Amino acid sequence: METKILPIDSRSLQLAEKLLSEGKLVAFPTETVYGLGADARNDEAVKLIYATKGRPSDNPLIVHVDKDYDIAQLVTDIPDYAKLLAKAFLPGPLTMVYKSRGVVSPVVSCGLDTLAVRVPSHKGAQQFLKFVGMPVAAPSANLSKHVSPVTAQHVYSDLGGRIELILDGGKCSGGIESTVLDCTGCVPCVLRSGLVTRDMIARVAGECDEYHMVEGERVRSPGMKYKHYSPRCATALYDYAHREEAFKAYKNCLAEGRRAYMLCDSGVAEQFGARYVLELGRSENEIAANLYDKLREGERLADIIIAVAPEKQDGVMVGVMNRLSKACG
Ligand code: AMP
Ligand code: MG
Repeated sequence: METKILPIDSRSLQLAEKLLSEGKLVAFPTETVYGLGADARNDEAVKLIYATKGRPSDNPLIVHVDKDYDIAQLVTDIPDYAKLLAKAFLPGPLTMVYKSRGVVSPVVSCGLDTLAVRVPSHKGAQQFLKFVGMPVAAPSANLSKHVSPVTAQHVYSDLGGRIELILDGGKCSGGIESTVLDCTGCVPCVLRSGLVTRDMIARVAGECDEYHMVEGERVRSPGMKYKHYSPRCATALYDYAHREEAFKAYKNCLAEGRRAYMLCDSGVAEQFGARYVLELGRSENEIAANLYDKLREGERLADIIIAVAPEKQDGVMVGVMNRLSKACG
């Protein structure tokens, strides 16, 4: 199968609509990472997402809709705090989980009675969702367990030959997957950290919990069980306080003839002046935006990535650390 990479315009959107209505898949950009979309109402199309990615069949998908779509068509029991949060943060990198009305395929939620809904802010994503006019089920457009894609080229290197169309909307500005928020209880609860932080949510909703997996208990967000995001090379992760040791390990690897790269923020890069660096940037948003791109660059260039965790550990860095420790821990 030939995989086309096309800019988003009326021709590519028509092709995207045709493919989705035939039960095929289309990759599209969002402000977080690229998504692999299917018509959420079509069982076979949604199953094709799992088969194409090699995704475990108990890890539910997020449904994407355009900003004018009435989500009450899809879900019910929307609490008042969720309406406030939607007003404050949507369209944007916040996925909200509600009680499902059961109008999309049950394959989307893996049989759960809830549905995760997202309204992306990316201009190309909005054009795509508006044009196709259907709820689009989409996980990240990578092979399962690999690093999520933030460019059309990343999607192509994982799924080239397996899907017919990648809509190219440039590099994703956000860089880590959306915050997943459970809105089925009296208090919202963060199931996965992202760019919309727990503090930001609490400021609008009054309070906000954060879910932590407990050994032996049923997992509330099945995706949490899985190791994600791994680059295809050796990795090591040091916390910020042990950055000197990270630099020593980097030099030892080079001395052994291994291609070693440090993955760190610009401050640490400057402190050591290492020659081979995957530099993440300075601000927390820059670090989030560059993380997956640098991990993918690292696996192309390096035998081993030696990562130094950022100094700051709150806010957006909660989500960054969560991904970094899954990738390199
Ligand atoms: P991905 O699209 O690969 O970023 O994964 C989607 C994430 O959303 C996974 O971590 C899922 O566990 C989570 N998710 C999707 N639907 C639900 C749901 N109904 N309840 C709880 N978590 C969900
Ligand atoms: Mg994913």
